[in-house]
Amino acid sequence: MVLNAGSSSLKFAIYGADAALAPLATGLVDRIGPEGRLHLQSPDGAALPTAPGPLSTHGEALETALESLRRAWPALSVAAVGHRVVHGGLAFEAPVRVTAAILEDLRAFIPFAPLHQPHNLAGIEAAMLAFPEAPQVACFDTAFHRSHPFVNDTFALPRAYFDKGVRRYGFHGLSYEYVSGELARRAPDLAAGRVVIAHLGNGASMCALKGGASVASTMGFSALDGLPMGTRCGQLDPGVVLYLLTEEGLSSEEASDLLYRQSGLLGLSGISNDMRELEASKAPEARDAIDYFTFRIRRELGAMAAALGGLDALVFCGGIGENSARVREEVCAPMGWLGLGVDPAANASGAGILSAPGAPVTVMVIPTNEERVIARATRDTARAAG
Ligand code: AMP
Repeated sequence: MVLNAGSSSLKFAIYGADAALAPLATGLVDRIGPEGRLHLQSPDGAALPTAPGPLSTHGEALETALESLRRAWPALSVAAVGHRVVHGGLAFEAPVRVTAAILEDLRAFIPFAPLHQPHNLAGIEAAMLAFPEAPQVACFDTAFHRSHPFVNDTFALPRAYFDKGVRRYGFHGLSYEYVSGELARRAPDLAAGRVVIAHLGNGASMCALKGGASVASTMGFSALDGLPMGTRCGQLDPGVVLYLLTEEGLSSEEASDLLYRQSGLLGLSGISNDMRELEASKAPEARDAIDYFTFRIRRELGAMAAALGGLDALVFCGGIGENSARVREEVCAPMGWLGLGVDPAANASGAGILSAPGAPVTVMVIPTNEERVIARATRDTARAAG
């Protein structure tokens, strides 16, 4: 079982614990609390019946989800549980079997990711109670980026902060692991070269990879940096934050809410954080928000090409990267100087290779699958631990 516990949601997936790791079902508890809703579906997207039950806490959400799964598979026995954990700090470069001591270690990273880490850990605690016999495995969004060189890992603050862990960690690592693995399977020559993966969803970041290893990421110390996102601001002059605190009188909670929940595509457009709605809108503010989004992707892409010393492939993934032909076109068309371009028909289909044959940079879409990475790591870590 794979769990991804957020502040008010619990995403889960179950897989057969055999070599094929066949997906059996995915589910989501939305708006954990009195208004909670449970959705369950089979791998082909068909809705499965759900059991009634309370959904007010992460523990209740897990119990009710489990009851629904047991109705569909009466003999269901959970062999191991894998968890998405946003922050592994400097210590965790690989998935780890969670013990009480490890859980304490992971709590130390709460100040680094206060909006995500506590909920991830609540998911682990709920699963430990629900499945006391099953190994629990934590898989980290930061781990993939531990290979960054110093210059992509540091800020120009006094060195003591670097030593205390104030660094550019980078996130979305589970997605990058899946997509880079798929690229290596489909096009090993490209994967061995200079690659940028653009994970464009409600959260968005880009990762530069050399020979399959992450050398730079647009996300930094927090999941706020880099590209603008659905409701997050992306790269921001730190002077703006000082101004908000000292001149606008925002408390740190208000500033956090502004930067994480009211900014990005939503803040710029005043309409929506959802790219589909912005693309459908005729309002100039929607156009402005999409323009800013694609401009910042191009700017960061130039920076990543500089970090890599050139570019062999650009791979799109995430809800926007996989589905928006318009965003892909608006990213690539003005970057012919870097060798980028998409074939209009291939881009409209959104599958596989989108660049013209022989183009200097291969542009691709590879749908991401973070749950599968967690499932694989969980099976392997649980087996290795006996
Ligand atoms: P994710 O967080 O990866 O699930 O991605 C969510 C984002 O993908 C939202 O902004 C959606 O509007 C966007 N998205 C999903 N489907 C489409 C589509 N067909 N066209 C444009 N954006 C889409």
